[in-house]
Amino acid sequence: MQWPLGTSSRKPSQGFGVPWSNNQRKQHTGIDLPAKAADQVFACANGTVSKTGDLGRDPNGNDYGRFVLFQHDDGLITCYLHIDSQVSEGASIRGGSVLGTIKDLKANSHLHFGVWSGKRNKITPRGALPFPQFVGTVGPFFDDPAFPSSFVDPLSFTYTADQSSPVIPDFPIKRDLSKGCTEGPDIKVLQQILNKDPQTRIAMSGPGSPGQESSSFGGLTEKAVQRFQEKHHITAVGHPGYGVVGPRTRSKLQELFTTA
Ligand SMILES: [Zn+2]
Repeated sequence: MQWPLGTSSRKPSQGFGVPWSNNQRKQHTGIDLPAKAADQVFACANGTVSKTGDLGRDPNGNDYGRFVLFQHDDGLITCYLHIDSQVSEGASIRGGSVLGTIKDLKANSHLHFGVWSGKRNKITPRGALPFPQFVGTVGPFFDDPAFPSSFVDPLSFTYTADQSSPVIPDFPIKRDLSKGCTEGPDIKVLQQILNKDPQTRIAMSGPGSPGQESSSFGGLTEKAVQRFQEKHHITAVGHPGYGVVGPRTRSKLQELFTTA
């Protein structure tokens, strides 16, 4: 998963499972991450917005912003509370995309970030649940999911990247490619990258030209790879690897792929 804030700090101001509320009969279902009003909040992984709405106001009239529940393919739900967000239910959102921004809660602006292990389209009251022995006994919250079995400590996951660093999409060319090699979708990607630059274009028209890339590596592709290697000073005519997509050529192609 990706970290939901643009900072590398993992330190919550309120941890997972800590006793919560005046009577200490609840446990915190997520973690509170200190943030500044208007900081961006990012989706942790690809998923669909299963529920979003207003958290309402407290008796003093303080607005607690909106919540977003985000259903992921692996069955987990991540939740983001106290944000300003315009995403709508049913929207399909890629991991790393902006979900919203931190709501201004004066001195207490923070993201409540939670991970739920079951399908629950219901926000828990004030981010906390009764202790297990009190489930079913506390006020109007009698149908709350059990704690902690329906929840996971968000800090038990590994986060691949901070949003302060760019998201690197998976690069599909993983093997060496040369003239006559087995056909594959990676060759089409190679041709598409080469076609972005007029100097390394496979062909101006017809097969191999922009929009007509193919999955086979022939003479035109080999020549384009050679021009690419010369242009980027990877290798030259008469030297090893000329016209062959090996590790160094691949890594240069990857740069151009990710900056596309
Ligand atoms: Zn919280």
